[in-house]
Amino acid sequence: MRPPLVVGNWKMHGAQTQASTLARAIRRGVKSFRRVEVALAPPFTALGTVGKIIQGSRVELAGQNVYWENEGAFTGEVSPTMLRALGCRFVIVGHSERRRLFNEGDEAIAKKMLASVRAGLRPILCIGETLAERQKRLTYRILSRQLRAGLKGLGKNGIETFEVAYEPVWAIGTGRNASPEQVSEAHRWIRGMLGTLCGKKVAKEIRILYGGSVRPDNAPQLAATEEVNGSLVGGASLRAPDFLRIIRSFASPSARQ
Ligand code: PEP
Repeated sequence: MRPPLVVGNWKMHGAQTQASTLARAIRRGVKSFRRVEVALAPPFTALGTVGKIIQGSRVELAGQNVYWENEGAFTGEVSPTMLRALGCRFVIVGHSERRRLFNEGDEAIAKKMLASVRAGLRPILCIGETLAERQKRLTYRILSRQLRAGLKGLGKNGIETFEVAYEPVWAIGTGRNASPEQVSEAHRWIRGMLGTLCGKKVAKEIRILYGGSVRPDNAPQLAATEEVNGSLVGGASLRAPDFLRIIRSFASPSARQ
């Protein structure tokens, strides 16, 4: 298994000055951590600025969203090749805010996954159930549909080139995070489903990140939870000391000091 991956999703925060200050602090702070990968997903408008600041460091750049065409008359959209040209290695695809607020459906998400892989980006496919779906015991039906749909177009070549983020919608930005038992149960289930979809050998290597109100105080427990291979962090990634403490929880124990 590759090192854990911790991604900071800044959402629609981080105009130039704030983005520069935050990126500089993260770059400085991660120097001593070992065996952990870190990526920052600022808004599109700050990708260039943040990309320059983290250049040459171990911090990677990620897009928060992407369109599936490389260029054309698609006002307001950003293409996978544009993200690559700015130095992005990752891109978040199918975040629940995109699904819910911008009506992104499975078909669009599948196209984004495929276009991202083709451009050489590693998409982070977000999946997760709402509270109502969990209460109706539909969690695994939802996860199954979202996973199958997201990976549908990838074929054999794309199958090892993505990460999955399990983000129960009821835990995002609510301060209410899933218990370690709920997280490990869902992650074990996702690993099993990836085995069915991609073969067991490949499935073992796919990182499954957890996201939903991850903070410095709950990160150590999550990092120690079975089948958790990193985290997608929203709110807490906007404060450098908090984000660095979360990253440290996922880093190799010998380098956490
Ligand atoms: C997210 O936006 O992916 C997220 C997990 O947000 P938060 O950490 O704020 O819940």
